[in-house]
Amino acid sequence: MSAVVEEYRAWLTEFLPKDYYERYREYRWDLTLRRDYQRAAFEAGWLQPTWPREHGGRSLGLRDAMEVRIEGALRSAPKLPNIQGPGVAAPGIRQFGTPAQIDRLLVPLLRGDEWWALGMSEPEAGSDFAGLRTRAERDGDVFRVNGHKIWTTQAHLSRWCTLYARTDPEAPKHRGISCLILDLQSPGVRVEPIRMASISDETFCEVFLDDVELPAENLLGPLHGGWNVALSSLHHERQMIWIMNWVEIKRGLDAVREARPTDDICAELGSLLADAEALRATGYRALGNELAGRASPEADILKLLGSVTLQRVWELAAVARGQDGVSDPDLLFERQDALAATIYGGTSEVQRNIIAERLLGLPKG
Ligand SMILES: Cc1cc2nc3c(=O)[nH]c(=O)nc-3n(C[C@H](O)[C@H](O)[C@H](O)COP(=O)(O)OP(=O)(O)OC[C@H]3O[C@@H](n4cnc5c(N)ncnc54)[C@H](O)[C@@H]3O)c2cc1C
Repeated sequence: MSAVVEEYRAWLTEFLPKDYYERYREYRWDLTLRRDYQRAAFEAGWLQPTWPREHGGRSLGLRDAMEVRIEGALRSAPKLPNIQGPGVAAPGIRQFGTPAQIDRLLVPLLRGDEWWALGMSEPEAGSDFAGLRTRAERDGDVFRVNGHKIWTTQAHLSRWCTLYARTDPEAPKHRGISCLILDLQSPGVRVEPIRMASISDETFCEVFLDDVELPAENLLGPLHGGWNVALSSLHHERQMIWIMNWVEIKRGLDAVREARPTDDICAELGSLLADAEALRATGYRALGNELAGRASPEADILKLLGSVTLQRVWELAAVARGQDGVSDPDLLFERQDALAATIYGGTSEVQRNIIAERLLGLPKG
């Protein structure tokens, strides 16, 4: 184990309550602990390990940063309470923000003092992100925004939203979109949480935008350049999400083993073990490409393989447990969570299309 991973491990052990692992089922949902973890990780430089100190990191190289993240996942470090803030919005602000935007927004986001929502999906434009209809029209020194977003996780608890809107209706679909920083407290914004059957604590919302005035300086990145802001912001998440999936898959595999599986289940277990190893190897290959400065086509494979394997593992755990697995709320949660992973950030079907067309060069169906 490298010295930096050892240092992180010691820090985490010191941070966590002494009975954390014994009472993990309760601590897992403890919002105060999760908020405290984010703030403490920011201050100690473990939140964004490759970034400089003032932005919650310690300027680590990619390899060390990945090992730190793997260690955190293996030790079930508390889940960040507003994951899309540090995971997606922050990299976008850091890459595309003006100095004034970075000064005002980045540290409160990283410390977890201000939460963020991602305003991408719409009722008629989910997978077809480029088809979004929310309009932002320039009117003097403001944008006037009208539209409707859906599945906006935690919008009801967030102060800010990266809002994607059409700013040039004449341009080809993906060239006419801009990313705007929306203050969710602005007049004309209505946020409505969606009642969910799921037991997750991450509530979805609808966001209605009725003639919302947004200062022109809240444009994030180039005008009509929102497509690239979205791709770059999500890329950061893609690079790391496989680690979380891999660790969750390992937990699921343990759950199957503990259920004393039949021969048929053992055969499926073997196939899943192989997929888990393939996921890890692909993650390291992606890292190798990044370190060598080569294009890394693995991100889409990691997203697809990680989420599909996770779903298969927890379904198998349910089958292996038989009747009593049906009434186990923890198992139900794992299955729902695994299912969600095959949808957010691009559904499995869409990932397969991308891999088929862009990586394998197959003709469009
Ligand atoms: C846990 C979770 C959190 C989320 N958080 C956010 C958030 O914070 N902000 C946000 O903006 N969105 C969020 N989303 C929404 C998510 O991005 C969309 O659900 C996703 O992009 C799919 O869009 P859709 O639901 O409109 O489904 P659709 O695009 O309508 O797809 C319906 C079905 O058709 C399939 N399909 C669609 N197009 C094709 C195609 N070309 N080829 C083959 N099959 C296709 C899909 O795979 C899917 O099975 C979240 C979703 C989940 C599950």
